[in-house]
Amino acid sequence: MYSDPAVPTAPRLLDRFGRHVTYVRLSVTDRCDFRCVYCMSEDMIFLPRAQILTLEEIAELGRAFVELGVRKIRITGGEPLVRKNVLWLLQELGGLPDLRELVLTTNGSQLEKLAPALKDAGVKRINISLDSLQAERFRRITRVGDLDKVLRGIRAAQTAGFGRLKLNAVILKNRNHDEVVDLARFALANGMDISYIEEMPLGTIGDHDRAEAYYSSNQIRADLEQHFTLLPTAETTGGPSRYYRIPGYGSRIGFISPHSHNFCGTCNRVRVTAEGRLLLCLGQEHSVDLRQVLRAHPGDRERLRQAIIRAMEIKPQGHDFNLQAQPVILRHMNLTGG
Ligand code: SAM
Ligand code: SF4
Repeated sequence: MYSDPAVPTAPRLLDRFGRHVTYVRLSVTDRCDFRCVYCMSEDMIFLPRAQILTLEEIAELGRAFVELGVRKIRITGGEPLVRKNVLWLLQELGGLPDLRELVLTTNGSQLEKLAPALKDAGVKRINISLDSLQAERFRRITRVGDLDKVLRGIRAAQTAGFGRLKLNAVILKNRNHDEVVDLARFALANGMDISYIEEMPLGTIGDHDRAEAYYSSNQIRADLEQHFTLLPTAETTGGPSRYYRIPGYGSRIGFISPHSHNFCGTCNRVRVTAEGRLLLCLGQEHSVDLRQVLRAHPGDRERLRQAIIRAMEIKPQGHDFNLQAQPVILRHMNLTGG
């Protein structure tokens, strides 16, 4: 049985395979100010507002999960920092005494103005997506993003006192694979961790053939090993990254490898989409409609908790991503909550 050291007492959320769920990713919006080519199609249709959970509903979900033994919540999206009043939600969750870690994944576009407020709200760590250090290429990958603004956001987060930031880089063959080493150098020089991510087949994107653009973690590691010594470590931040260290540096180099190294056996996570669908697995459709529970029985936290506990019975053993086939998972990553 996989036992999560973060759970000191009897776990409340236990699935059929003995995995303890202690980590929830909450997507607070499907909207975004970027249109990254691996995440979205160019002409996305976003959800009507009434279908999106209110911030109060999301806070209620957070409270219920923490009462059920969840100790880490990641706020994500879409771009979480474009959701109006998201700071209110972060303050609510940041104040929950039993929550150990409130963390955030962002594209960095709003950090320049929001970093100090995020710190004050109780956000412990921030992951920032950065796929290129070349302005024009950055724009091509994000379709609209401004690299300088993101770099200023990164500096603002450091100035606000966020310790070791983590960069997330999705690596695509012939788009940015030649920047693997430059991105590592940037992370090392700025005292940040970096995780390289293999692209996952979520939704139809139109931009490229995902099989053709596949660049494996093994290839990335081989590229890095031309320049650095990578020592494997058993460290974990409670997520799917496998970490390495480079002697002489404080940074961790991580690999998120859904294709080449399946991480399902130790999965401790579930996700809630912006419309309140509890997703039991990133790569499967098994889900429970928590918005229905929240809206049919407002304020009935026990009913909400029971719905979450029952959902553990349908958490699948693992994903079965296949880059050669048409995507089976039709929802895009912005809806899923990465
Ligand atoms: N907008 C924020 C951001 O970009 O960091 C948060 C949401 S985004 C969906 C979360 C993470 O998912 C990002 O690091 C992004 O690069 C990654 N991502 C998006 N689509 C992906 C895909 N198809 N495969 C792998 N990672 C993906
Ligand atoms: Fe937006 Fe993040 Fe998706 Fe890029 S990866 S389009 S920044 S949600």
